Amino acid sequence: MKFRYQAVERLPKPLKEGIVYHSAEYEVGALLCACGCGHRVSLLVPDSHKVESTNGMATISPSISVCDAPCKSHYIITAGEVEWLPAFSASLAASTMRDQIARHAERDVKRLTWTQKLWASIVATYRKLKAAMFGRSQ
Ligand SMILES: [Zn+2]
Repeated sequence: MKFRYQAVERLPKPLKEGIVYHSAEYEVGALLCACGCGHRVSLLVPDSHKVESTNGMATISPSISVCDAPCKSHYIITAGEVEWLPAFSASLAASTMRDQIARHAERDVKRLTWTQKLWASIVATYRKLKAAMFGRSQ
């Protein structure tokens, strides 16, 4: 089966086989599992997956591992071509989930650091102002 790329505004409810739907606006993608099991595979672009069109054919990176369906398929789609990869073992699937959670946590830490930096610069400015007004440095 070959996968065509289709840009959409919103993901349609019933998906057609052989089409990777991609909403650039909502940063999501969806396709019916390449194994033919009928499972709807959802792709979250900011999370991990990049969905692109290669001359109208779908390219998804990195590989798709279907953890939430019985088929446990693992494959990568490049220019519409499906390349099958060894199935994820339960432990590898778990570690992938952990990585994803870790990435989220990392992003939160970065946000926190940014806020802290801002706060630190406000405090520093305040101290400088105070020192300028009272001629005293702390
Ligand atoms: Zn499947």
